[in-house]
Amino acid sequence: MHLDALAANYRTVVAELGAVPAAGVVKADGYGLGAVPVAKTLWSEGCRRFFVARIDEGIVLRAALPTAEINVFDGLLPGTAGDMVAHDLVPVINSLEQLQAWQRLAIAADRELPTGLHIDTGMRRLGLPPDECDQLADRPDLLTGLGVRHVISHLASADVSASPQSGRQLALFCELRRRFPFGAASLANSAGVFLGSAYHFDFARPGISLYGGSPYPDSGRPNPMRSVVTAEAPIIQVRWAGPGETVGYGATHTVASDARIATVPVGYADGFLRSSSNVGLAAIAGRLVPIVGRVSMDLITIDVTALEDHHLYPGAPVELLGRHRPVDDVAERAGTVPHEFLTHLGNRFERRYLTEPS
Ligand SMILES: *Cc1c(COP(=O)(O)O)cnc(C)c1O
Repeated sequence: MHLDALAANYRTVVAELGAVPAAGVVKADGYGLGAVPVAKTLWSEGCRRFFVARIDEGIVLRAALPTAEINVFDGLLPGTAGDMVAHDLVPVINSLEQLQAWQRLAIAADRELPTGLHIDTGMRRLGLPPDECDQLADRPDLLTGLGVRHVISHLASADVSASPQSGRQLALFCELRRRFPFGAASLANSAGVFLGSAYHFDFARPGISLYGGSPYPDSGRPNPMRSVVTAEAPIIQVRWAGPGETVGYGATHTVASDARIATVPVGYADGFLRSSSNVGLAAIAGRLVPIVGRVSMDLITIDVTALEDHHLYPGAPVELLGRHRPVDDVAERAGTVPHEFLTHLGNRFERRYLTEPS
């Protein structure tokens, strides 16, 4: 992984935001890439606010970043309050029930506890639903003893350029913000940042764009983000296959004319999704070659007939993700989003963190 590219992507997002800061979303172990090295890199770029999904992720991050604001999207789940306080984490409160439990703790501890407030503007996943927003607006005492750091909501369709949902959520968030004018306001994920300044509020919450995914995947516009992850594996063997012969489980690929098939030690157990079978691509020496046959647990097979002999030796590096294999394209070919592809990359990949420009 290229930490310089991560830092450059952070700067690209911040430049798009103008004067508005960006929090770093480092849930799921930094989208599978390592939350601690990712967050430390973002910290060195000036990022001071982070979001994780689970409290355990927050505890790990706290050990690495003693003074950062670390927020937990899951909110205050039963049994987590003690750890939340002990590790100075901020629960992003998702219901009045969570709010009251957190407030009871603040009163018992006789100190103001930092609080995030998630309000639902249409995602219907997390956050205070409309009726609880109404109740909270009528009962400002529910926040007594709590230091509200921010009020956030989440866009459901920011990456669908034609969707009218983002505009509706924006209007509702503006209205709710007037009723809850506490702390900083935040609405935008990566795609939201690029919807324009109306979506920026007081800070943004980019995730996938920092890791190299396009913030406007369906628009046909070139991705302004740099590739952050390179995933490589060596060729194990190269064999000829003749016309009519088939490759791999289920014989899903039939060789048309004499072909050279290289076998590479990466499979779905490494997160190279099986849905890449017969549609994925790899790159050797910067040239694209098709994945033929099924992706199996530990291996893929690629058709390297077009390449010269000197590229095809055991140990020759095959790029699966990287400059020639952008994560958006790799994910799309597998029928998914870059978020899923990155978080699936398995432990059998040896992780290296490089700081040189890529
Ligand atoms: C994951 C997440 C983000 C980041 O989304 P990206 O699409 O990766 O930029 C922001 N906010 C919330 C609430 C999230 O769950």
